[in-house]
Amino acid sequence: MATMTKRRETSLVQRLAGNGWRVLELPRVPHEALEEFAREVWRLAFHAIPWPSGWGVRWGVLTNARGLCPYEAKLILLDEAWMLNDSPEQIVRTLVHEMAHLQHPREWAETQSHGPGFQETCDRATAFVLSVLEPERRIEPTAEPEPEAQVDEWEYR
Ligand SMILES: [Zn+2]
Repeated sequence: MATMTKRRETSLVQRLAGNGWRVLELPRVPHEALEEFAREVWRLAFHAIPWPSGWGVRWGVLTNARGLCPYEAKLILLDEAWMLNDSPEQIVRTLVHEMAHLQHPREWAETQSHGPGFQETCDRATAFVLSVLEPERRIEPTAEPEPEAQVDEWEYR
């Protein structure tokens, strides 16, 4: 039993920090809200194939990265400080990018770079998600602005 407890503690620690990242302790937006949003993006991008078992999504503090996918921690991380200045489109792009990494662990392990398998998943999923989101994001221009009222006609008292 003691061994099990110790192992559980170790795995918790491994999920809080790693090389070039740590999970934010007090995010402005709750981790749960981010994960819920990410799961919606996943459903859309990958047509509701099951969420990968054991994986989570958290706000992090990252070294020189918008997002990160540390396989050993089974986490997708977004840098909150960076995301606060990013457009919703960029946040979705970053999420899909990390989700594509999640699906190509071998490529990353072998090359530590963006290989062709990763790139195709990322490009296709990003294009699809943005094509679906585009009409909702686009703000239709309102009618031509009314010319300013003729000040001359106003009555002043
Ligand atoms: Zn990447």
